[in-house]
Order: sequence, then structure tokens, then C-alpha cells
Amino acid sequence: MYYLKHRPCLCFFEAVVFNMRMTSIYKNYFKVRSKIRDAELASGREPGSVKLLAVSKTQSADKISALYQLGQRHFGESYLQEALKKQRQLGAYQITWHFIGPIQSNKTKSIAVCFNWVHSVDRFKIAKRLSEQRPAHLPPLNVCLQVNVSNEASKSGISIADLPELVKQVEILPNLQLRGVMAIPSPQSEYDLQRKPYQMLNQAVEKLGRKEMTTFSYGMSGDLVAAIAEGATIVRVGTALFGKRKY
Ligand SMILES: *Cc1c(COP(=O)(O)O)cnc(C)c1O
Repeated sequence: MYYLKHRPCLCFFEAVVFNMRMTSIYKNYFKVRSKIRDAELASGREPGSVKLLAVSKTQSADKISALYQLGQRHFGESYLQEALKKQRQLGAYQITWHFIGPIQSNKTKSIAVCFNWVHSVDRFKIAKRLSEQRPAHLPPLNVCLQVNVSNEASKSGISIADLPELVKQVEILPNLQLRGVMAIPSPQSEYDLQRKPYQMLNQAVEKLGRKEMTTFSYGMSGDLVAAIAEGATIVRVGTALFGKRKY
């Protein structure tokens, strides 16, 4: 394991705490996996049709390593510098890296080079830079367009009304592969209210009639069951796997 190679001399107390922490990650992992499975079955979805993206922002390389040992391969990060550091630490691992955070222009180069997926494209300028900066020897960068479904001024994401135009602009960029949409609705505790924003976005995507848009990056720890009922193909889960984030 990563931690054994890099920290050969944990003291006894450190080792005990470390093991407790990893044991809870293992338990959480199986809990989340079975929750996804139950939600797939409950909504008549094919078992295994929903991909789990482990959101590891603020979490250590050790914790990523622990999930990797259990077979997890897709990890999501929001902060570029932190992500690049972990990618270096975990260079030998066969991880598919997803960038899911807000993107400033000065970050596009590293994102285009170091990630396989980007979920948070919400303007043409960023998409164009990602396409131009994607190295020629790599396959096209997979992108989802982030849609602001709750129309909150503070949130990133394009409005549903502006989605068709952005789709037209992005789908012709040579080094990007447009895969679908991502949404982060404002948190709701009621199941029906959790489903609403995804229903709206589903209708908008259906109207576009693009057969390559098959990815629905919907759902986090708090609403993944509702998201799966509404067709999520990727759920982005952090807290339910790793516990509360410490910033
Ligand atoms: C942090 C984050 C998540 C994970 O949220 P949890 O509630 O911890 O599961 C999912 N998606 C995005 C875009 C995030 O930034």
C-alpha cells in the first residue's frame, strides 16, 4: 500500500488511528456501493449502470490508495494544485482523474494535460482553451457542461436557456469529446424536491437530441438516490465515503 511504502515507521498510536480511519473508509465504500445498487434496482436501472466517482478533494493520497485497493478507479478533484500533488504521489496507479471544480483560464493548461474528464465546463472560452491545450498524443478530453439548475447567482454553471448555444460551440472543438451535463442543485432534504431540478435538465437535454450526450453527472452524498432515479450515470460522492471534509 502507498502508506507502507512511504511511511515505514508509524508509531503504534499512529498505526491504530490510521487503521481505524481506513476501516471506516472500507465500510463507507461498501455502504455507498450498495446504496447505489439498491437505487439502480428501485428505479429499474441496469445494475452497474451508475458509475461511482469518489470525490477526494481535501483527502490524502493514503485515503485514495485505500479505496484503490478495493477496486475504485475514478476519482474527482476540485482544486488543481492539490490534485496535481496527489497525481504525482499516485503516479503508478491506473486512476481516471475527473476535474469537477470551477475553472479559471490560467488553470486550463494543466487540466488539459493531467485529467481524463472535466465536469465543470460552463463557458466557451474555457472549452476552447482546453481543446487547444489538450496534448495531441492523448485522446480527446471528455467534458460535461455544468448547468446551473437552481439559478443561484453564486453558483457556477450555464443556465438551461443558454445550454443549446454552448453545446453547438463545444461539440465542434477537435480535442474535446462532449459527453453530457453536470448539475449541482441547491441542497434539499425532500426526495421529490431533490428530483425536480434533474427532471428539468433531462427535458432540456432531450430537446437537444444529441446522441453523444449520454453522461448525466448528477447526485452527491445527500441526493444520490434521487439523482439515480432521474437517470444519473455518474454520482460524485465525497462525504459519504471519506467523512466530513477538513479545510
Ligand atoms: C465536493 C463535491 C462533491 C461531493 O460532495 P459530497 O456532498 O461530499 O458528496 C460533488 N460534486 C462536486 C462538484 C463537488 O465539488
